[in-house]
Amino acid sequence: MKRILVTGGAGFLGSHLCELLLNEGNEVLCVDNLFTGRKVNIHHLLDNKNFEFLRHDVTFPLFVEVDEIYNLACPASPVHYQFDPVQTTKTSVIGAINLLGLAKRLKIKILQASTSEVYGDPEIHPQPESYKGSVSTTGIRACYDEGKRCAETLFFDYHRQHKVNIKVMRIFNTYGPRMHPNDGRVVSNFIVQALKGEDITMFGDGMQTRSFCYVDDLINGMYKLMNSRDGFTGPVNIGNPGEFTMLELAEKIILQTGSKSKIKFFPLPQDDPMQRKPVIDLAKKELGWEPKIKLDEGLAKTISYFREELGL
Ligand code: NAD
Ligand code: UDP
Ligand code: UDP
Repeated sequence: MKRILVTGGAGFLGSHLCELLLNEGNEVLCVDNLFTGRKVNIHHLLDNKNFEFLRHDVTFPLFVEVDEIYNLACPASPVHYQFDPVQTTKTSVIGAINLLGLAKRLKIKILQASTSEVYGDPEIHPQPESYKGSVSTTGIRACYDEGKRCAETLFFDYHRQHKVNIKVMRIFNTYGPRMHPNDGRVVSNFIVQALKGEDITMFGDGMQTRSFCYVDDLINGMYKLMNSRDGFTGPVNIGNPGEFTMLELAEKIILQTGSKSKIKFFPLPQDDPMQRKPVIDLAKKELGWEPKIKLDEGLAKTISYFREELGL
C-alpha cells in the first residue's frame, strides 16, 4: 500500500483521481486550499480510513511523509485563474518548487498536471509535444500559461540537477461530472445555460476549436503516466483528438438537453487560442493509452450530473 499525495485533490480532476487511487488500494493525502475546489467533491471519501484531507496552500512549504506526488493544485478556468493572477503564478511556480523540494527530500516520484496552454495560440496544428508554443508573456492568460511553462522547466531542472523522478502531463480541455456550475469553462457554461433556458454565451464567432476529453479517460491516462516505465518523463499530451468548433459544441448541447436557449455572441477574450488538438502518438506508444469516450456520450453523462446538481 502506497501513501499518495494529491495536491488540488478537492478540485474537479483531483477528486476523481483520489477516488481511483483509493480504489487501487492506496492511502491518499488530499491537500487543497479550497480556492476553486469544494468539500462536496470529496465528501463521500471522508469516511474512508485511507483518505485524509489537509487544508493547505501549496505556495507554503509542506512537510509530510508520502511515497508519490500528483501535483494538480492550480485554478484551471480562465475566470478563476484571472481573478488573482499573481496568486496563480505563485501557485504554479512556488507550488512546484515546494513539491519538488518534498520529492527531492523523500526521493519519490512526482507528476505534474501541465496543460495544452503551454502551446498558447498554436501556429502548428495539431500540436505534438515537440512544438514549443506561441505564448504571450504579458497577456491576461500569461499568469496561467507562463506559470505552467515555468513549472515544467522546474520539473526538468530538478530531474537533471537533483535526479528527481518526474512525469509531466500536458492535459487538454477535460470535462465531466463534478465540474463546478460556476466553473466558467465552456462545457459547464453551455450546459448550465441550456438547462436553465438562458442564452448560450458564445465568445467570438464560435469557429474557434477545442478537443474535449472525458474525465474518466483523462484520469486513466494520468494513472498510466505515473506508472509508466522508469526514465520516461514526458512531457506527454493527454487529450481527445476529436476537434469541435464552439458552435458545434453548443448545437450538440442544445440538442441533447432539448433546450430552447438561443446563442448570443460576445467579443472573444484577449489571447483566446483559435484552435487546439493534441497529437497523442506518444501516449499511445509509451502508455498504451487512448481515449474511449466520445463527446456525445461524455456530454450525456455530464448533462445528467448538472441536472441533478442544479436540482432540475
Ligand atoms: P479545479 O479548479 O477544479 O482544481 C484545482 C484545485 O486546486 C482546486 O481544488 C483548488 O482549490 C486547488 N488549488 C488552487 N490553488 C491552490 C493552492 N495555492 N494551494 C492548494 N490548492 C490549490 O481544476 P481542474 O480542472 O481539476 O484542474 C486540475 C489541474 O489540472 C490544474 O493544475 C489544471 O491546471 C490542470 N489542467 C486541467 C485542465 C482541464 O481541462 N480540466 C486542462 C489542463 C490542465
Ligand atoms: N520543501 C518542502 N517540503 C520538504 C522539503 C522541501 O516544502 O519536505 C520546500 C522547501 O521549503 C524549499 C523548497 O521545497 O523552499 C525547495 O526545496 P529544495 O531542497 O530544492 O531547496 P532549498 O531548501 O535548498 O532551498
Ligand atoms: N467560451 C465561450 N463561452 C463561454 C466560455 C468559453 O464561447 O461561456 C469559449 C472560449 O472563448 C474559448 C473556448 O470556449 O474559445 C474554450 O474556453 P474554456 O474557458 O473552456 O477553455 P480554454 O480557453 O482555456 O481552452
